[in-house]
Amino acid sequence: MKLIFERSRPGLSCDLLPPCDVPKAGLFAPLRSAPPRLPELAEVDISRHYTALAGQAHGVNDGFYPLGSCTMKYNPRVNEEAAALPGFAGLHPLQPVETVQGALEVLCTAERLLCEITGMDAMSFQPAAGAHGEFTGLLLIKAYHTSRQDTVRRKILVPDAAHGTNPASATMAGYDVVSVPSDEKGCVDLDALRQAVGADTAGLMLTNPNTVGLFDENILEITRIIHEAGGLCYYDGANLNAVMGIVRPGDMGFDVVHLNLHKTFSTPHGCGGPGSGPVGCRQFLAPFLPGDQAVEQCGSYTLEQSTASIGRVKAFYGNFLVVVRALAYVLALGREGIPEAAQNAVLNANYLMSLLRERYDMAFTEGVMHEFVMTLERTKKETGVSAMDVAKAMLDYGIHPPTMYFPLIVHEALMVEPTETESRATLDEAARILLEILDKAEHDPEALHRAPERTPVGRPDEVGAARSPKLRYAFPVV
Ligand SMILES: *Cc1c(COP(=O)(O)O)cnc(C)c1O
Repeated sequence: MKLIFERSRPGLSCDLLPPCDVPKAGLFAPLRSAPPRLPELAEVDISRHYTALAGQAHGVNDGFYPLGSCTMKYNPRVNEEAAALPGFAGLHPLQPVETVQGALEVLCTAERLLCEITGMDAMSFQPAAGAHGEFTGLLLIKAYHTSRQDTVRRKILVPDAAHGTNPASATMAGYDVVSVPSDEKGCVDLDALRQAVGADTAGLMLTNPNTVGLFDENILEITRIIHEAGGLCYYDGANLNAVMGIVRPGDMGFDVVHLNLHKTFSTPHGCGGPGSGPVGCRQFLAPFLPGDQAVEQCGSYTLEQSTASIGRVKAFYGNFLVVVRALAYVLALGREGIPEAAQNAVLNANYLMSLLRERYDMAFTEGVMHEFVMTLERTKKETGVSAMDVAKAMLDYGIHPPTMYFPLIVHEALMVEPTETESRATLDEAARILLEILDKAEHDPEALHRAPERTPVGRPDEVGAARSPKLRYAFPVV
């Protein structure tokens, strides 16, 4: 496909601006010696370019997208309409508070509802993504210990099944990471946890259900062990899909939580679009929350920053329009719809797993929640077909591959998260395709090594793309 610069033809443009009817004012000194080399295209060509570009990728609107841990689900369009309302979309962050009362009400209401869902007392919408929320939450934990002159706590415990951002955020926050092994059931090994805690434990980061999709039934014991040692408990709530409206991190004993509004609460994600990783906490941590908090006083809204705040972690109020979408989503689903969505997410995962488990080996089958992990280890030994080959073959059938080679504790892993927004017919079809791919693996493994054959790009050099990406267009020398 042609790049936009290759489509450019001199002299073409989209005349969107009316002719200038005031005298032109030049800059004091020219900043450039030549005009910028922007592509020149008619509006229709631009529209076709981006439509063609979208056709090269697979999105939730193209087909099934069971990307485990990432929660790629259908996002109701009505939430986009809410976010596009001119009263929200046209706001300036420096407007006087009396002119943005509705926006502050959105922040206060979203805080109240998401606190109710998580069992927390206060929430900040500043963090722009999950990892950013983790980092912010750890700074709250640090501020708490520091405020008590408790400065020997240098360690954050992280289960070995954790999402990679957990140890990364803990390191960024200046902590030493201690990895806690999983037991044979895929949950935290309690004996190992007891041995790892001590007077130097600042806290624990945990996600439940964990990244192999299992609900850790020892969760109350786990958070008790940490609290008894004087540490705090951080809940990675990036994937709240399985439990929202059913159990609350606060009731499991957690002190700090982040959510990924761009996974569970409606905002589409992927490709670096704006996200939101709000951080909720219990009351004793609320004074440390970052930035300004919207608060209600006698029916009107103001912004306040606590003197103990860790300071801003992002400009202004975070990605506000993502919060608008999340609020619209929560209000539309309501008290009945939120747990129903979670139940359907769990039902869909268990249904698809049950269609596959006779022929695909599952890493764990007990207590599976919203996602399950298959291991292709045996298939690879017997046929040479790897998890990568199966994932690539799925693309030829028009479905997005599951998450591959994650979590790290499972070999040849494929991690499947169907989400609640898929129908039974879609799940039946996905199972049929996966079983057909397994037949192919047994009869014609070579064909799977060549897959995908019907996509614009087959097997890109991923390391090369990450290490030496081409981010600039090489203009032809004239
Ligand atoms: C996605 C995810 C994160 C990170 O979220 P980002 O918004 O990508 O930074 C953290 N933890 C878990 C369990 C996740 O699934």
